[in-house]
Amino acid sequence: MDTAAHIAQAERFGAHNYAPLPVVIASGEGAWVTDVEGRRYLDCLAAYSALNFGHRHPALVAAARAQLDRLTLTSRAFGNDRLGEFCQRLAELAGKDMVLPMNTGAEAVESAIKVARAWGYRIKGVPDGRARIVVADGNFHGRTTTIVGFSTDPDARNGFGPFTPGFDVVAYGDAEALEAAITDETVAVLIEPIQGEAGVILAPEGYLAQVRALTAERGVLFIADEIQSGLGRTGATLECDNAGVVPDLYLLGKALGGGIVPVSAVVGDAEVLGVLRPGEHGSTFGGNPLAAAVGLAVIDLLSTGEFQARARDLGAQLARRLGELVGYGLVDVRVRGLWAGVDVDPDLATGRRVCELLADRGVLAKETHGSTIRLAPPLVITDQELDLAVDRLTEVLADL
Ligand code: PLP
Repeated sequence: MDTAAHIAQAERFGAHNYAPLPVVIASGEGAWVTDVEGRRYLDCLAAYSALNFGHRHPALVAAARAQLDRLTLTSRAFGNDRLGEFCQRLAELAGKDMVLPMNTGAEAVESAIKVARAWGYRIKGVPDGRARIVVADGNFHGRTTTIVGFSTDPDARNGFGPFTPGFDVVAYGDAEALEAAITDETVAVLIEPIQGEAGVILAPEGYLAQVRALTAERGVLFIADEIQSGLGRTGATLECDNAGVVPDLYLLGKALGGGIVPVSAVVGDAEVLGVLRPGEHGSTFGGNPLAAAVGLAVIDLLSTGEFQARARDLGAQLARRLGELVGYGLVDVRVRGLWAGVDVDPDLATGRRVCELLADRGVLAKETHGSTIRLAPPLVITDQELDLAVDRLTEVLADL
């Protein structure tokens, strides 16, 4: 089957909740993928950072294979011999006490919302049913009904109500607005340290520290959604490390599953995560041995610091090269580690058009909104490959 036939089949039998670029991938290795017609592409999206370690990283594939031959699923009705080690190592990596393992990012967010509410009622003493959570405009935390209910993106939200109450939206980066929104009934502030889907919007200097100070002062949990920013992408294990802050709960996902299985987690201290009691929360697949084995191999990769260093070094190269394009087709760039939000001059092209032209030249990237594209190549990309990606972008912009 050729590309057109694959696309037609997926269109005919799959729900139309995505509008993918017309590229049908059949295999991948490292930073490269090959489509069904044998064309090779440099992957500069890395599955929205779920492929931080590249396609089929040998250590991750080996860990998955070994576990496949032994045990894949027990449910949490029983223990399994990988779960405890995974929880311990992940808690240690994040500098916290304990871990609630789930599967997708949205599930981790939903789980943290439940934990924060339970903490509010049982520890903080908020009257039952009154708990409120402050979120930021431009947020992206996933696609469940509760989560889209506090999204400010009409495409995510419109037509899917009624929504779960109890959320207050403030401007991202505005500490005064946050302070004003916190009441005695506020149990948590939930924010992304960098807003990925919004266009790689970096928190203003000092903002995360202000969030930490305010939440600590007012007895409110600080929940950092590091599902996209965490696990090496920004040049640190966690973006909160870069900002020098320690939130109460980290939400992790995407790269935690090594690009092989969905693995997510809420990571926090015992006073907070310890509020959950048996029977109150769970997941058939959460903490399964295959996920735990892959997650452990991911933690091993992160423990050396090599990937964080690569993100820093290559990120400096990316920032320098993209910066040179501002005024030459780009109006702005924002870079943290190996992660860039690139604003194309909206008079020249949409982000979508630029991504189509890049794909024609063998580079895969994805627009976020309007004329903004996001570059997040696997951290295994080489400096020459990164230069090649920016060279192709330079050509595309010159031809607009
Ligand atoms: N939170 C953040 C910051 C994200 O970027 C995403 C996905 O893009 C999610 C949560 C949701 O993750 P998932 O798609 O695995 O549910």
